[in-house]
Amino acid sequence: MVAIAIAVFALRTPRFTGVRYYCPALSGSIMTTTSSSLSPCPNLINGEWIDPKLATSEVFNPSTGEVIAHAPVSGAAEVASAVDAASRAFPAWRDTPAVERARVFFRFRHLVEQHFDRLCHCVSREHGKTLVEARGSLFRGLENIEYACGIPSLLMGDTLEIARGVDCETIHQPLGVCAGITPFNFPVMVPLWMFPVAIACGNTFILKPSEKVPLAANMLGELLMEAGLPTGVFNIVHGGRASVDAILTHPKVRAISFVGSSPVAKYIYETGTRHGKRVQANGGAKNYIVVMPDANVSKSVEALSTAAFGCAGERCMAGSTALTVGAAAERLLPDLITAARAIRVGRTDRPEQKNQPDMGPVITASHRDRVIELVSQGEREGAKIVCDGRGARVSDGPKGFYVGATIVDEVAQSMTIAREEVFGPVLNVMRMDDLDSAIELANASNYGNGAAIFTNSGSAAREFKQRIKAGMVGINVGVPATMAMFPFTGWDDSFYGDLHIQGREGVQFFTQQKVISTRWLGDTGPAAADVWRK
Ligand code: NAD
Repeated sequence: MVAIAIAVFALRTPRFTGVRYYCPALSGSIMTTTSSSLSPCPNLINGEWIDPKLATSEVFNPSTGEVIAHAPVSGAAEVASAVDAASRAFPAWRDTPAVERARVFFRFRHLVEQHFDRLCHCVSREHGKTLVEARGSLFRGLENIEYACGIPSLLMGDTLEIARGVDCETIHQPLGVCAGITPFNFPVMVPLWMFPVAIACGNTFILKPSEKVPLAANMLGELLMEAGLPTGVFNIVHGGRASVDAILTHPKVRAISFVGSSPVAKYIYETGTRHGKRVQANGGAKNYIVVMPDANVSKSVEALSTAAFGCAGERCMAGSTALTVGAAAERLLPDLITAARAIRVGRTDRPEQKNQPDMGPVITASHRDRVIELVSQGEREGAKIVCDGRGARVSDGPKGFYVGATIVDEVAQSMTIAREEVFGPVLNVMRMDDLDSAIELANASNYGNGAAIFTNSGSAAREFKQRIKAGMVGINVGVPATMAMFPFTGWDDSFYGDLHIQGREGVQFFTQQKVISTRWLGDTGPAAADVWRK
């Protein structure tokens, strides 16, 4: 008996059938972090790396201003090929038991860990994150892979005897072909918010990475295939608006996960839903950090500095406005200015170098110019620049896209810099009389991503937690970004849709529920086998 059971189990236990794919053009050249040689940037369709003969867009190393790759500007034809591949791959992948699907992600997790440094260097080179920041973002991504490894438990349904002899159960089934459209600011982490859970749920997937940071996404594709994911389950199409529009309107795409700026998020949500798709679209942000007069000064300075200047301010959870209540500004500002002035800006594309900078460049020359112009406009409108990073220069990267840490004091609500998402290393300081006016000002924003308060008062913290209009709230936590097991809960213009990215909501987004009611009537009719088997 035991022997039979073992034999049956052995038969059912899948063997590792993954083919070891290899993209020779990708490996190696991505590692040449300071070389001026171009990295190849093919699409990944049906398990093949394809270099479509199309117009391309330039990918920069923002530390030096050099062009490091040309990303194909794909359109409807490339998206159609990817959707065809994903549609063909769907039935077999859907029918693969969840435990087997999860095993691919256990192997993928191991490979990402094995190639951790290589991925971090790629992120630092194409995006400009410091190595510490790149590592942090990759850890957040790894947690999403780990979450997807738990998919057998996450997909379990409910069951209940609802009447005598009648059972009811729920099962969660995948949707089909799903797509992810991602921003430049987290080249690895944001794609990992989406595709591990989508694919582990049994869907097939098309990733359209930001055309500004396409290289790390290709490394993920390479590792996913090495993990044994069947051909066509994961595809990558590079490009800009034309490829996005093709995804939004393709009849076989069932769901779209988007992260990017609010105007584009709104467009994706409206267009995608009009074409019958599920859409979850994360948008931009303007996050407020309230500092009460009783807050711990050194901890608040450290947290504000990290929240505002970490990742050069290019985070949707950046704490870009300090609302100082009463005496808090006088207590805080001298140390905050000292801390900001001490931030060393420099090249992030030389991982071998001992002295790594505290902050890297911003993504492009035009983005740097926009950030500087917004600060200058603030100054013209009456704000005071108490720490000025506009003239930042890096001697060994004279053509890099640098802005130093900047603090703009006495910002008023009417100023452009108070309303626009700056997305650079700029902290606004707005002085408030009391907590009520701070909450009122923050709640007047169209965004609603994150908000934080620094205080030692439990009642102030409670008041803030209850009344603030934001989906993610920190109490003495400057960047309350959620981890993989919790949803990333933006509100208002920071999110369009119903089910958020990550956590159980992420699983719900990528599955549809079926409720089955069952009653067995006894063996009175013909043998079941005679009826349904020829
Ligand atoms: P973006 O909106 O310019 O681009 C995001 C994606 O949309 C890219 O893949 C891009 O190719 C595509 N795209 C751009 N313009 C388009 C258009 N007109 N039509 C169709 N597709 C278009 O955003 P970005 O500059 O890459 O990223 C920064 C923004 O992302 C910031 O606003 C930031 O707050 C936001 N963001 C939000 C979150 C969040 O979870 N809420 C997380 C990260 C970044």
